[in-house]
Amino acid sequence: MADLNKVEEKLDRRVRGRKRQFRLWKRTGKRGHLKAFRAHKKAIQKLRKIRRKLLRQAPRIVTAAQIGINPSAIFGGLGTPLYVTGHYTAGPKDTSDDHAIQLCKSYDSQHRSQGWGGIGYHYCITRAGTIIGLRPVGQKGAHVGGYNTGNVGVMVHGTIGDLPTAAQERSLRWLLDNAHTSRMPAAPRSPRSLATLARRGHNDWPGHTSNSCPGSFKPMYLRGGAR
Ligand SMILES: [Zn+2]
Repeated sequence: MADLNKVEEKLDRRVRGRKRQFRLWKRTGKRGHLKAFRAHKKAIQKLRKIRRKLLRQAPRIVTAAQIGINPSAIFGGLGTPLYVTGHYTAGPKDTSDDHAIQLCKSYDSQHRSQGWGGIGYHYCITRAGTIIGLRPVGQKGAHVGGYNTGNVGVMVHGTIGDLPTAAQERSLRWLLDNAHTSRMPAAPRSPRSLATLARRGHNDWPGHTSNSCPGSFKPMYLRGGAR
């Protein structure tokens, strides 16, 4: 999936270019400007088509409120987001979005009973590619002991030997590119783009290297998903 922001930037440049060439052609009557104008026009049509396709491809997004969870900021604010850390739950894979939501709710209760004020991760990506907003990105999470400041936690349901689906790969990419935009509902929106942050697996962190998390999902996390 191409980055919508980049497509829109290109589109803006092309629209400006088309206007400029049109004005120049009107003023000078030179055929070169007419040719450039037509090239911009053609590129604009192509980019608009890509943009429409990308907007259709936005994954289903479910918010914490919609699934009836409400993590509290007992660890304070996240601080400036610097890292995106990928996890698996070391538990069952989701067989449907409803199942994924049930699992998220059970981890929310579990983490709450551990004194974490609710689920420790910020986002879940289901096997169908749905993004579930869990803890708001503005809140410090509880997903890498000792390293939660500035660290955004993304998780998938699954354990050793499980592999990501193509939909998960695409939705992770979409999340990184779009979590800070108006395409993301306000509650799970990130204060800044996640695409530029450093990406790690849970067991890349010091003191966590013997952890199996995120298993075979790690390449997806390090790559930032797939287009
Ligand atoms: Zn983990």
